[in-house]
Amino acid sequence: MEGTASAPWDIRSCLLWAKRKLSGAGVDEADREAALILAHVLSTDPADVKVRDGVLDGGQRELVISLVEGRARGTPLPYLLCHTWFLDFSLVVHPGVFIPRPETEGLAELALALARDLPPGARVLDMGTGSGALALALARVRGDISVEAVDVSETALRCAWENAHRLGLSGRISFSRSNLFAEVRGRFHLIVSNPPYVPAERIASLQREVSTHEPRVALDGGEGGLEVLKRILREAPGYLEPRGHLLCEIGDGQGGELIRFAKLASNWVELRVERDIAGRERYLLARC
Ligand code: GLN
Repeated sequence: MEGTASAPWDIRSCLLWAKRKLSGAGVDEADREAALILAHVLSTDPADVKVRDGVLDGGQRELVISLVEGRARGTPLPYLLCHTWFLDFSLVVHPGVFIPRPETEGLAELALALARDLPPGARVLDMGTGSGALALALARVRGDISVEAVDVSETALRCAWENAHRLGLSGRISFSRSNLFAEVRGRFHLIVSNPPYVPAERIASLQREVSTHEPRVALDGGEGGLEVLKRILREAPGYLEPRGHLLCEIGDGQGGELIRFAKLASNWVELRVERDIAGRERYLLARC
């Protein structure tokens, strides 16, 4: 295969080779991703790879080549490594499951702050759990609350359950299949969600690896991007305890219309948009 024979055996040269191949293929963070690949193959961390001397064995070199080639063809790195990080814990992610984003860590932090004030036994719902990131973040810190996680995708639910199992949290979260609230029963103190909110007409213009590899059901918010968020805002009051919170991830510029819609749809006592660390509108907080 083109360029394969040139893959060097020593770690430093191999890192450089991987970086060049990735950046030549248009990967934005070629440096970081090359280090992640070498770190994965050597079972160490990326910082260590950069200062490490030594040579790869035959199997390791083959693996580096196949990962670099897969990535250069556009497959997101977490799918190749079957792994990503969320907050301070490691998550398994498989093709067909939405890869958690850094901005959703901000949503998790807001959810954790709200969860701190919940009474023991409180019920929390993660709507559209994907890999389970938000449900797991909550169950890890509050062993005394009941976390339920739903998703329309069986593939996502299997992955979320696998993550819960690996983190020793499978007994603390109940997973079930539901198209939004269709199969959800009872009321919750907190509902968190990172629903699809990308306008359908913009999906094709997302980065190639997102639009061609990640599940459309986790991204596509319909025409204008607000269809799912509006359904959640309309239906959530029927599933919240008095003074319960709804916390959703949203897209930049969607806050104003969502707040206008929410005010018409229900009697929320509090409605607020928060920004992410890049200063973009990213989180909608509603309290009934
Ligand atoms: N932030 C995601 C992206 O841009 C979109 C996530 C979502 O629709 N929930 O890829």
